[in-house]
Order: sequence, then C-alpha cells, then structure tokens
Amino acid sequence: DLTEMESINPATGEQIESYDEHTESDIDDALDRASETFEEWRETSFAHRQTLMENAADVLRENEEKYASLMTEEMGKPIEQARSEVEKCAWVCEYYAETAEEHLQDEVIGTQSDASAFVSYEPLGPVLAVMPWNFPFWQVFRFVAPNLCAGNVGLLKHASNVPGCALAIEEVLEEAGFPEGAFTTLLAGSDKMNDVIDDRRVKAVTLTGSEPAGRAVAKRAGENLKKTVLELGGSDPFVVLDDAHVAETAEKAAKGRLQNSGQSCIAAKRFIVHTDVYDEFVEQFVEEMDSWTVGDPSEEDTQVGPQAREDLLEDLHEQVEGTIDAGAECRLGGEPLDREGAFYPPTVLVDVPTDAPAATEETFGPAAAVFEVDSEEEALELANDTSFGLGASVWTSDLERGEQFARGFEAGCCFVNEVVKSDPRVPFGGIEDSGYGRELSEHGIREFVNRKTVWVQ
Ligand code: NDP
Repeated sequence: DLTEMESINPATGEQIESYDEHTESDIDDALDRASETFEEWRETSFAHRQTLMENAADVLRENEEKYASLMTEEMGKPIEQARSEVEKCAWVCEYYAETAEEHLQDEVIGTQSDASAFVSYEPLGPVLAVMPWNFPFWQVFRFVAPNLCAGNVGLLKHASNVPGCALAIEEVLEEAGFPEGAFTTLLAGSDKMNDVIDDRRVKAVTLTGSEPAGRAVAKRAGENLKKTVLELGGSDPFVVLDDAHVAETAEKAAKGRLQNSGQSCIAAKRFIVHTDVYDEFVEQFVEEMDSWTVGDPSEEDTQVGPQAREDLLEDLHEQVEGTIDAGAECRLGGEPLDREGAFYPPTVLVDVPTDAPAATEETFGPAAAVFEVDSEEEALELANDTSFGLGASVWTSDLERGEQFARGFEAGCCFVNEVVKSDPRVPFGGIEDSGYGRELSEHGIREFVNRKTVWVQ
C-alpha cells in the first residue's frame, strides 16, 4: 500500500518524477538509525565536524548546476536565483564550520565563594525539521549546518512538492562524509508527522512554513514537552519616509517584493509611503515592478518564474481580487497570465483599505499593497498593525532617523535602507504569529542544545 509523492514542474504542469513514500516501518528504521548515530556523533570533535561541513560546502559548489536545476524544475525558481541559493548554502556550512566551536564553548561563570561553575552546550539528539518548498535547499541547510555542528542529528520532512530536493540534500551530506543516520530525509506527508513528533527518539522540532502548520506542529510538540522553533509567515512593512531617495528605494522595493517570485516569508509585502513622496514613489515602483522579466525559470534572464503550485496561485489571486473588491485600485498586473504554468505577474495595488486581504494576510506571491500615510507616527502605527512580526524595513536618507524608526518596529529582523534578508552572521526569526526562536548566528546554534550547568564545589 505504497503512496506516491509527485513532483510537478510548475512552469509546465508536467510531472517530473514520482517517488514512493516511506512506510511506517521505513520511518521506524530511520528513527532507530538516527538515535544510534547520535550516540556516536555527539562524541565527535569539533575539528571532525568542521572538516565534514567544509566538505559539504565543496559538494554543493561542485554540483551547483545540478542542484540549481533541480530547484528550478521542482518549484520554479529562476535559475540564476537557484544558483545563488546553492552558494548561500555552501556559505552557511562554512560559517558554522568556522564558528561552531566558538559559539558552543564552555561559558565560565565567576562565583563568589570557593566554588566554580560553567555552562556547557550539549546536543539533544535527533531533531525533526519540517521544511517548506520556497527555498528548498537554504531552509534545510540553515537548520542542518548548525545542528550537525552542535552534535545533533537531523530528520527532514520536506514539503511534498520538492521530494527531489529532499533526497538531493541527503546525498550532499552523505558525499561530504557524514555517517548514515546523521541526516535522513523522510519522504512522508504531514499526516505522518504526529507519530514522529510523539516518538521518544525525537527530541525537538523546528518548522518553517505557514502559521496553521506551525500551530499544529507546536501543539503536538508541546503535548510531548518538546522544544520547538517556528519560522512562520510574515507581512513585512517597507516604510518609505519623506526624505527617502525615491528612485533607489523604488528599485529596492521591487526587489524586496519580487525575490523568489514573491514567495518569501521576508519579502516586503506592505509598502507604507509618506504622502510627500507618494506619487513619485508609486510611479517609479510600478515602473520597476513592470520591468522584471517573467518567464520560463530555466532561462538565464528570467527574474520572475511561476508560482510553485497551481493552488498557491489561486490563493494569491483570491487575495488580489478580494483586495480590489474591498476598494483598492490595481495599477499593474492583477490577473494570472494566459499561458501554461502557474504564472502570476508583478502586481501593484494602491489605496489598499487596512482591512483588505492584502493588508491583513500574508501575500505569498508577486503582489504589492501600497498605503499612503501623513506622518512618521502613522507609518509606524500601520507598520505594526499586523498579527505578524518577522521582518521590516525603513527607507530614509537620515541613518540616525532610520535607526530610531527601526527600534519602533515590532518585528524580529529590522533593516534600514536594505531589503530584509537572512545572513548566517545575524539571528533570524520573528515574534507573534511569525513564530519564535532564532535561526543562524550563535543564537541559532544554541536553540537545540542542553545548556548544562556544572557547579564544582
Ligand atoms: P505549509 O505550511 O502547509 O507547508 C510547510 C511544511 O509544513 C511542508 O513540509 C508541509 O508538508 C508541512 N505541514 C503542513 N501542515 C502540517 C502539519 N499539520 N503537520 C506537519 N507538517 C505540516 O505551506 P504551503 O506549502 O501549503 O503554503 C501555504 C502558505 O504558507 C503560503 O502561501 C505562505 O503564506 C505560507 N508559507 C510560508 C513559508 C515561509 O517561509 N515562512 C514557506 C511556505 C509557505 P506538506 O507539503 O506535505 O503539506
């Protein structure tokens, strides 16, 4: 009674491959192997882990074209952006290869008496990672690099539309020399995850994806008293102050919205613009959005590919229509493209009412909602008027003013004059409905460790 997982090319609607899902007994074996491998892996030196992690970076770079093409086929990422993603994965492997030991060094605590104490950071065991399709390599490497370096082992439940990527990542780590069981892909639907979360061999869970998926997984993990890290959606504000350099800002605004064909948790989604520069900004923003090349993601000059699945395109279009019905004006795009594949064009909605779908929900595609405000105070209030709290950016020619404004954002990752992005050196994550916990940097590597106190009298 094998069920199958299919990968479909969203640019054509054609099936690329079909994979047999893992059975319950396959999953049971995988958990056994993970637990056994953990007992050995936890004893390895940082130097050894460092070597293997550097190998992983090499394997990624040597096979960049192969892995990039796989992402492009399975989820429609423009090929040039797919190559950058592979490169970024190599970077995070190298980053943790170089820094893990330092991040996890014993922390000596000065005590007053004749006793001494320190904190040691020890691995927890097999960690389950539930991951999404939008950055099918990066989201996984961002989890696996710190965790393997910390002495944990990884179990991946990847999104059902990217099974090829899920298996390819397993291959990268195997070729790098990690022992069998250090990282295992479970080809299984989300309905199989409750049993995995309940299983005593699994010690913690991390999920990147939608808010409902995050709630479901965190609830189950909570019943089992297992720690979770959640990186969920966002509706990032992009605030343009009255002294912003409009041409540059409009260009970055398009980049912030259209990266990964609009399918990024930290894409700029709500553009909040001061009235003094509003008309000029909107005009240039529409021009910039219109200048991005939409097309076959395997072509070199394509900048916006298809949406990753047909149903995701339909959800997005429903939000755009709902926003127009609520009173917004559509200045660009607004209708799925009349061609095969799940193509949605860059879309700009202005005069968006604050209760319209594009204002209150996450829009996971190339549709921008623009709002006009009269003051800095109003801008901040609107920026924070969301249930999410992932990223935020503010644009101004006065850096001090920008920094001050950024302090007012209720979000996890705030940027001045730069689009929100992740970087191995700085922590990444959100608050409120965007989730909790942090990935990357020393904060990320310390999420799934036992901060063990040792007191010596
Ligand atoms: P989901 O959140 O449903 O999928 C993300 C991952 O979670 C997938 O591996 C999925 O598995 C898994 N999953 C879903 N529900 C459960 C569950 N109850 N228990 C265990 N695992 C679960 O996202 P979708 O692909 O359906 O996209 C819908 C929306 O989610 C997007 O439009 C966007 O708004 C948001 N999203 C946000 C992302 C982010 O980066 N923060 C990334 C992707 C989506 P499976 O594929 O098998 O269902």
